Amino acid sequence: MSTEHLPEHPEFLWRNPDPKKSYDAVIVGGGGHGLATAYFLAKNHGMTNIAILEKGWLAGGNMARNTTIIRSNYLWDESAAIYEHSLKLWEILPEELEYDFLFSQRGVMNLAHTLGDVRESMRRVGANQLNGIDAEWLDPKQVKELCPILNISDNIRYPVMGATYQPRAGIAKHDHVAWAFARKCDELGVDIIQNCEVTGFIKDGDKVTGVQTSRGTINTEKVGLCAAGHSSVLAEMAGFRLPIQSHPLQALVSELHEPVHPTVVMSNHVHVYVSQAHKGELVMGAGVDSYNGYGQRGSFHVIEEQMAAAVELFPIFARAHVLRTWGGIVDTTMDASPIVGTTPVENMFVNCGWGTGGFKGTPAAGLTFAHTIATGTPHELNKPFSLERFETGALIDEHGAAAVAH
Ligand SMILES: Cc1cc2nc3c(=O)[nH]c(=O)nc-3n(C[C@H](O)[C@H](O)[C@H](O)COP(=O)(O)OP(=O)(O)OC[C@H]3O[C@@H](n4cnc5c(N)ncnc54)[C@H](O)[C@@H]3O)c2cc1C
Repeated sequence: MSTEHLPEHPEFLWRNPDPKKSYDAVIVGGGGHGLATAYFLAKNHGMTNIAILEKGWLAGGNMARNTTIIRSNYLWDESAAIYEHSLKLWEILPEELEYDFLFSQRGVMNLAHTLGDVRESMRRVGANQLNGIDAEWLDPKQVKELCPILNISDNIRYPVMGATYQPRAGIAKHDHVAWAFARKCDELGVDIIQNCEVTGFIKDGDKVTGVQTSRGTINTEKVGLCAAGHSSVLAEMAGFRLPIQSHPLQALVSELHEPVHPTVVMSNHVHVYVSQAHKGELVMGAGVDSYNGYGQRGSFHVIEEQMAAAVELFPIFARAHVLRTWGGIVDTTMDASPIVGTTPVENMFVNCGWGTGGFKGTPAAGLTFAHTIATGTPHELNKPFSLERFETGALIDEHGAAAVAH
């Protein structure tokens, strides 16, 4: 892929404007979802008098803290549709955004370690194939061929009994994705305003008319919330509740190694997943820390269990060293599916609940949420993910496909 469009330094990719007194729309949150939403609002709906307000620095939330796994092999039709649309967008975005963010379709494997896993995984492969998703079932020998360093012997605690595999899945470089969207947003006239915390909302009856921020009051006709782990805090400020719990989610990298790990391997059962970054670090994640919290850090015992699982599956990792660990705050819902749509407050819209898996959803979330903000109505793909589903009971339970952080 050509890298001729790569700028020299990200600091020159967007302006650093002061907030204006009013905008046609304000997006709260300068992570991937906020950036993608603003990009599609400008590109697809001609809304360019808009601002992204970020309380810290661009992509300083989950966007540049995630482990960058992209896939679309979710169980239910509603999820398969939105995640597969996202994957198709990932496939064209480097060219559209004119930025090589190292999207690498190296495949993602989900290991099965018990008969229950095998049955559930095969069911998911079948469902995926009916939805036109490139899912396959691999036996242990095929697993080993794709990832030779994996231990498939049957004398370990949880032997590998097979795996689902999606060849078009993979990884991308998260900070470059943010910069790519930010540069295009800026070119289209969007104001990206960092160090600008939203502290309250101005309402006329049930209708939002502005936001209070650490940099003054801004009037606006529409507000889109893209604040991940802080969504329920913002909803409370606006006067409604979201069915979300915020949890710390951790990840870590090893020091740099020669290429040893050609694909992405996830194990929900022993709770670890691993890929190797372009630079050579082994990137590893696990499940959420079980308590609620807003600290961008987690507990040591999660790392310890994750390491035990990793060494069992990949014995050669026993000689690797951990370079650094970090955490983000993920917004989990009770059916492990996102919430994208309208809210009880007129002209306020919400995109949240992507939990441990929203990086992969960034392009489709942005595209569909922009449609919802611009038109005031759901997009065909985000319609099933409305807030009302928690009242009607039409839940989309993706715990099976989203059980380990990814
Ligand atoms: C360790 C880890 C690993 C993960 N791995 C994967 C993975 O492999 N694949 C995958 O698909 N997903 C993964 N995820 C999940 C993914 O990162 C998130 O779902 C996704 O990044 C959410 O995007 P966002 O833009 O909504 O959130 P964020 O990037 O968190 O953006 C929200 C922004 O809102 C800002 N904000 C909050 N409150 C305010 C306020 N009051 N005013 C102004 N700004 C505010 C925050 O500072 C933040 O920058 C992982 C997450 C973590 C933490």
